[in-house]
Amino acid sequence: MAEFTMTTDADGVATITWDTPGKSMNVMSMEGFGELDALIDQALADDAIKGVILTSGKPGSFAGGMDLNIIASMKDSAGDDPARGLFDGIMNTHGILRKIERAGMDPKTLKGGKPIVAALPGTALGIGFEIPLACHRIIAADNPKAKIGLPEIMVGIFPGMGGTMRLSRKLGAMAAAPFLLEGKLSDPAKARAAGLIDDVVAPEDLLARAKAWVLTATDADLVKPWDAKGYKMPGGAPYHPAGYMTFVGASAMVNGKTQGVYPAAKALLSAVYEGAMVPFDTALKIEARWFTNVLMNPSSGAMIRSLFINKEALEKGANRPEVPDQTVRKLGVMGAGMMGAGIALVAAQNGIEVVLIDQTQDAADTGRAHVESYLDKGIARKKITADKKAEILGRITATTDYDALTGADLIVEAVFEDVAVKAEVTKNVLRVVGDDCIFATNTSTLPITELARASDRPDQFIGIHFFSPVEKMMLVEIIKGRETGDRAVAKALDFVRQIRKTPIVVNDARFFYANRCIIPYLNEGMRMVAEGVAPALVENAARMVGMPLGPLQLVDETSIDLGVKIARATKAAMGDAYDDAVDPILFWMAEQDRLGRKAKAGFYAYDDTGKRQGLWDGLAGKFPPAADQPDLIEVQHRLLFAQVLEAVRALEDGVLTDIREGDVGAILGWGFAPWSGGPFGWLDMLGADYAAARCDALAAVHGTRFACPALLREMAEAGQSFYGRFGTGADAQAA
Ligand code: NAD
Repeated sequence: MAEFTMTTDADGVATITWDTPGKSMNVMSMEGFGELDALIDQALADDAIKGVILTSGKPGSFAGGMDLNIIASMKDSAGDDPARGLFDGIMNTHGILRKIERAGMDPKTLKGGKPIVAALPGTALGIGFEIPLACHRIIAADNPKAKIGLPEIMVGIFPGMGGTMRLSRKLGAMAAAPFLLEGKLSDPAKARAAGLIDDVVAPEDLLARAKAWVLTATDADLVKPWDAKGYKMPGGAPYHPAGYMTFVGASAMVNGKTQGVYPAAKALLSAVYEGAMVPFDTALKIEARWFTNVLMNPSSGAMIRSLFINKEALEKGANRPEVPDQTVRKLGVMGAGMMGAGIALVAAQNGIEVVLIDQTQDAADTGRAHVESYLDKGIARKKITADKKAEILGRITATTDYDALTGADLIVEAVFEDVAVKAEVTKNVLRVVGDDCIFATNTSTLPITELARASDRPDQFIGIHFFSPVEKMMLVEIIKGRETGDRAVAKALDFVRQIRKTPIVVNDARFFYANRCIIPYLNEGMRMVAEGVAPALVENAARMVGMPLGPLQLVDETSIDLGVKIARATKAAMGDAYDDAVDPILFWMAEQDRLGRKAKAGFYAYDDTGKRQGLWDGLAGKFPPAADQPDLIEVQHRLLFAQVLEAVRALEDGVLTDIREGDVGAILGWGFAPWSGGPFGWLDMLGADYAAARCDALAAVHGTRFACPALLREMAEAGQSFYGRFGTGADAQAA
């Protein structure tokens, strides 16, 4: 079925309409490129056609991007030379877009081309904005919900279909940087103000205004600045003194931000720099080379897989049991503390009626006031209106009265982390809610199966574990207790979909999944310091391998006293099996009252306003760095293997049933080196064979916590990869 169609009106203006069958938003496919190419040829060849409007048949959007299968099919198109296939495929699309841009004009006089205007009904992302950038004018409908931009960098690639070259030439490297290097998206009004598009018009006038422009455009209107004689890059090209400074600064900034582990940002900057020094057609070739380079890097494939394909699959309910719709209508939140208030906020923001209950009216009101102050900040930043704030706050009833819970179909409990307190709250709630209400706990450490004992309907009892701060963290870990039923899982998943977060579903075990993996990371960091590894080496090694925070900084953020509490509870639960290597440093820090950032004193020093300064020099008095320091790689491997081996064990134990959840959860939950695509993505990059050998080497020196898990050993022997063996999310035990 055709994705692009063309009609021509009595005035000789052709309209090419993009309408991908069966999709709510247009997505570029291999076939789509071919159809667009053929229609452009036809329009340019037909003397009766004066110009072209390129638009979309979808209301409110032009296009959402490219079908990523295009990359796979380009790679396959040149036999055993995927780089050649990619390069040729990219050059082919450059050819199509360049044809639009030149529109049949004489290459010398730059006269005689046909005007081609992009008329965007709304959202235009990725290739959906790169195509308009090749047109002679971009007009968008005034649709404040629309998003325009080039988000490719967010999934580990860069705009490689001409977007990088066109935008950097159009705006200059400095002005284009936020859109290219950070993937910043804008609504139409902001896009026009930034110079991304030319005009914003009332939606009903879009096509008429586009047509009027086509009929009045002159030859000069069609010539892109970079094709005109004497073109100079805004802000200066690299050999210009101002441009030189831009690139020096940008290079330092990119390396500082990415620590050199994200190949796409560096490749993008190289393409802009090298491209700026040559004519445009050569620049496109340079862009294609760098894009090929990035697409051939395993990191880009791993990031696309986890942050795009699998994240979306999980959000769409890849692991949802087949149970009728469980959309939440009325939510009860028990406990209006830090977590409860955050949960009430995100639910109310997404249209759910919330009853927020605490022990006293004061405490409940404090929770609601937290929501209010968050919304006030949104108003100050012009993110929401006063009306919207009133609407959201109006959905939250703060009270101590359990009767207000009548009619609630989901309860999320976020009271103190205490079995007895939670049990009492559970019993009191179940007395007032209906028989089919699902009860969820936000506990971070207590076993769900044990907490479910307080309920006479354990099949309707589940864990919904949010991360702090709730309004920012995108992951929600859903935990099934031994008796949790399918409807409870579906309810939790539907709730997470309503509040637009990403769910993973795991089985009940100590610390569930995310905390189980992050605690060994924190412990390994502290343990190294206790052994005499320089704290700066530990922190920098972590950041240089792509962890957003070093382990010591993360301990400061989560607080030393929480660490002490968890260490005590773990010791009580594990008895002799407890590994006490971090106790000396952890308990000593607590004794010094260096409880972390909240105390303005921890592994780092802080100023009076709580701003982090350098590492605390007092630490060296108690734990002096040894004369011999380990290699960077050794430190990095200790920090990463501590996490990924726990992820493998979680898979072996059946806590994780889907490696996609393990990878997506790790990146969104605790920021596990996103460039790697997650713990399983990283192990696949290393190869099971090498990973198993590294485990053996680390275990020989540092102890059994690095012992190679049986599953990894088996895979090393069989020459398997995690995504080869479990890629579709098959159960570890079943495979
Ligand atoms: P908090 O101390 O900020 O809030 C707890 C609230 O519960 C308080 O307002 C308290 O008055 C209220 N409360 C206590 N007993 C109650 C009762 N019987 N009835 C009604 N309200 C009662 O704690 P928090 O950080 O919001 O944590 C709440 C829960 O969320 C805990 O189970 C915790 O383990 C879990 N959790 C916390 C984090 C985090 O980072 N803080 C992250 C994930 C999960």
